[in-house]
Formats: sequence, structure tokens, C-alpha cells
Amino acid sequence: MIVSIDGPVGVGKTSVAKAVAQHLGLLHIDTGSMYRALAWKCLEQDLDPDDPQAMATLAEETEVLLQNSPEGPKVLCDDHDVTDEIRSPEVTSVVSQVSAHEGLRHHVVEQQRKLGDQGSVIMEGRDIGSVVFPSADVKIYLDGSLEARTNRRLKELESKGVPCSFEEIRQTVEDRDREDMNRRVSPLTIPEGAQVIDTSHLTFSQVVDRIVETVRAAIRTKRFAKTHH
Ligand code: C5P
Repeated sequence: MIVSIDGPVGVGKTSVAKAVAQHLGLLHIDTGSMYRALAWKCLEQDLDPDDPQAMATLAEETEVLLQNSPEGPKVLCDDHDVTDEIRSPEVTSVVSQVSAHEGLRHHVVEQQRKLGDQGSVIMEGRDIGSVVFPSADVKIYLDGSLEARTNRRLKELESKGVPCSFEEIRQTVEDRDREDMNRRVSPLTIPEGAQVIDTSHLTFSQVVDRIVETVRAAIRTKRFAKTHH
């Protein structure tokens, strides 16, 4: 069973996917953290994020691992624990540039497909239902107004004690979406056959329940198809 969740910045993909994974016993894979780990290393090594060859080599030579630990999921980049660092404003501001290169994405997508082969997974990102797993059993596209998504990000940052303004966040959310939607390779788009959920006026549990129901229905259909063949 493969469930894909795609959508723009700040729509709540990660927390929703995590909760759905817990409800249904699926493995949760946050693909944004893989691109963030590469963006972190790009900054560490002072590489040019606009150089396609340098970015492809970076992906080829870097080992990014997603690990579960008692404190929560960890992201390792060549054995460094980068779980917290990949959320920094510096990494966030460069990640869309880094992730835009075809050569780099080729390596990352290959690894994501291997992770999906492990069995029952819920994978979230920007191109999961469109490119990584076009034949996913359930495809979800989470959407939300720019205002609702900006407010979400603002609350998240405030709870971490990071001072910021609505206007500043709105601008960065908008800029990153523009880059992700307009890139040549695997742009953010609504995958064919995806169920679109507008989260602007739904509570967190309403979104989670809707997805859990859709996945349960897909599991029943799959079982039915198996027993009637
Ligand atoms: O989801 P998150 O904000 O952590 O993703 C960081 C960035 O990684 C996105 O803005 C996008 O540029 C890139 N990304 C991508 N494809 C994915 C997941 C993330 O290009 N499947």
C-alpha cells in the first residue's frame, strides 16, 4: 500500500502524514527532509546551488538516511545528525534552488522508490503522486489558502520562540511555492487521480480522518479485488 501526499508549503503535510501513519501502521517518509539534508551539505561545502553538475554530484556522493528513534524521526547526512539544522532559515531559503536540478532529483527519487518498496508507506512531498509513485494506491493533494498556510508557519515559528512577522513569512511561503511550481523538472502539481483536500477551513483531525477513511476504503477494495480473482 502506497499513499502519496503532495501539496504546497505550510499546508500541514508532515503532521497529517505522521498522524495517518500512526492510525494505519504505515511507515511515514518525509521526502522534503531529504532535499533539505542536501541543501544543508551544499551550504556546508559552500557549493553553488545553481550549478547543475555540482548538485548532481552532491546527491550522488551523499548518504541521506531517515531513521526512527525514541525521540522521533532523525535525519542523518553522511552520519551527521542534521535533524534540527535542516529546519534553519538558511537551509529553507536555499532548498528550492537545490531541489530544482534534474541530476540531483534523479538520485533522490531512486532512493525514494527503494524506500517505497519496503511495503506499506505514506510518503509526502511535492512530486510523489505525479513522478515518484504515479501508480500509488491513494493520492492526496493537500491545499490551503496562502493566508491559512502563512498563519500555520507563523504559529510554528512562534512556538519555537523565533520572532517573525506575518508579512515576512507570507513572502517566503509565496516565493518557495513559486519556485516549486514553476521549475522545469517535477514541478509541484495536482497529480492525476489525486483527491484534493482544501485544509483552509478544516481542523487537523478532520483532515486526518478524511485521509484515514480514503485509505481504509482503498484497502477494502484491494482485498476485494484479490479475493475475486
Ligand atoms: O516539505 P518541505 O518544506 O520540507 O520541502 C522542502 C523543499 O524540498 C520544497 O520546498 C521543495 O523545493 C523540495 N521538495 C521537492 N520534492 C519533494 C519534497 C520536497 O522538490 N518531493
